[in-house]
Amino acid sequence: MPLAFLPTPLEFAENLTKKLNGPKIYFKRDDCTGLAFGGNKTRKLEYIMYDVLKNKTDVVITIGGLQSNWARQTAAAAKKLGLDVILILNGEKPNYFQGNLLLDHILGCNIIFKPYTDEEEQMEEAGQTPITGETAKKIRKDGKIPYVIPLGGVTPLGNLGYINAIQELKKQSEEININIDHIVSAVGTGGTCSGIELGLRLFDMNTKHYGISISRHIKPKNLEIADLCNRTIDELKFNCKKFTPGDIEINYDYIGEGYAIPTKDCIEAINITAQTEGIILDPVYSGKAMAGLIDLIKKKKYKKEETVVFLHTGGQTGNFSYNNFFK
Ligand SMILES: *Cc1c(COP(=O)(O)O)cnc(C)c1O
Repeated sequence: MPLAFLPTPLEFAENLTKKLNGPKIYFKRDDCTGLAFGGNKTRKLEYIMYDVLKNKTDVVITIGGLQSNWARQTAAAAKKLGLDVILILNGEKPNYFQGNLLLDHILGCNIIFKPYTDEEEQMEEAGQTPITGETAKKIRKDGKIPYVIPLGGVTPLGNLGYINAIQELKKQSEEININIDHIVSAVGTGGTCSGIELGLRLFDMNTKHYGISISRHIKPKNLEIADLCNRTIDELKFNCKKFTPGDIEINYDYIGEGYAIPTKDCIEAINITAQTEGIILDPVYSGKAMAGLIDLIKKKKYKKEETVVFLHTGGQTGNFSYNNFFK
């Protein structure tokens, strides 16, 4: 279901490369997927929304944080396809709406504010429905068809989004005649990472992906991601070697105090990227991933002649609700 502006640009960051005096840095601009300010979730939604329509859905239900980029992009996709949206957002109703929450409101979503636990969140991510199930039941009672999309769009179908992105990136690298040695990206649920890993294997690229985690789960993320890769291979019947957790590299050094709490280095990375390239990162994901990349370049993880693609996953609208951190 076409929803994104594709291909997104692959942009050489000449000034940032010079400033950091390390490998050549390119940005894959998935902040420019277009749908209601865009971001990485739109690619997953192109595949998930096909299934939503196939099921004759009336109401899309999903769940996320108060500043969820996922919820915002899902809402925009559903509205574009003529569907109603119920968002269940983790927290009390704030006095005023900013950032993604403001956009959810403008998009005309029915927003339910409901604090939930980390455990409930991880169940929702895994496709169980301790929170969304109740709402879906009510919709069914009213004679309408609900469709619950798991938090973050972490499904084999959603994975096709980043498998497709890697094919796109491969083509772009051939057009400008570069070899991409590394891809660096922020890891949240791990859905994007597993699509990237599958894409690299399916399209036979010699590129290494390095995921910088912005949160902790109960299980180490490389186990979850390898598992999601293998489920995708099984469900979509790919002819592809299975993954082991050792195939997936995840760094946890740049999380700071926790999910959605920006670190000093994250804010600095947002400022440096804006002031060298005019590119705005976000305070929850790409800012922390860039803080990681900057630090790893300082620690000489990459050779000067190598090429690193930084995946800009979007989320800039979040900055408006984190304005206090930029004083
Ligand atoms: C969701 C999100 C991510 C992480 O993607 P996952 O597939 O959940 O790992 C990264 N950056 C932004 C801006 C996001 O909204």
